[in-house]
Amino acid sequence: MPAPAASAPSLRLWRLDCGAVQVNNLNLFSDTFAYVGQSKRLTASCYLIRHDDTYMLWDTGLPEASLGASLQAPGDMAANLSHTIKDQLSELNVSPASISIIGISHYHWDHTGQAASFPQAKLLMGKGDVDALRQPGTERAKPLDHWLNGGGALEEVTGDKDVFGDGSVIMLDLPGHTPGHHGLLVKLAKTGYVLLSGDLTHFRENYDSDGIPSFNDDRTKSLASLDRFKKISKNLKAVTIIQHDVEDIAKLPTFPKFAD
Ligand SMILES: [Zn+2]
Repeated sequence: MPAPAASAPSLRLWRLDCGAVQVNNLNLFSDTFAYVGQSKRLTASCYLIRHDDTYMLWDTGLPEASLGASLQAPGDMAANLSHTIKDQLSELNVSPASISIIGISHYHWDHTGQAASFPQAKLLMGKGDVDALRQPGTERAKPLDHWLNGGGALEEVTGDKDVFGDGSVIMLDLPGHTPGHHGLLVKLAKTGYVLLSGDLTHFRENYDSDGIPSFNDDRTKSLASLDRFKKISKNLKAVTIIQHDVEDIAKLPTFPKFAD
């Protein structure tokens, strides 16, 4: 049995704006052709957690190369970044160097984009994803090169990970979208449990209908992870946030306000 918890930590959760994505071919998000001919605007959110005196980021959003990019660009998707994580941290008087942990849900570009701004941080990432990034010639490994090859502190997470050892912030093993995909469970004193999806799902209707994107790594694991996530959400009555859903993320306060 786990040891009894020590006194509850001081915990705050900020939602950061980490980009916007215009999806011109929404059918990519269904392997059962649910969205033929449809388009949708998605958001890219990431999160800052203060645990006592320790700062952690969850996901690092679009790359800075997307600053000022047009959402009208052709193709399946177009992405735009309005302001960087560093800019938002500065509004809180938090220096980039004070981020000591980065948790990344999975290896896609819209989640790893600004990690390199925080080289001193320890990176927590699912082992299945790290293994995939270590395959030779993997283009998507570049944003995390500092941790994969450059001596940055890296913890390859297998299963769930109790980040601070007190049950307040837990990376949840939710494979399927990618081999090592994780979500995040945060236990706040006033708000209660907050459940962050990673890319377990991308928008509310897709979540409700158990939709599986055509580009997921493993359909069976994706469905099992959706089932686990929904049960956790229900059992804990968690504020459940689909990180790419514009309306869903509004359940959390608008920056610079925080949930606690
Ligand atoms: Zn994503």
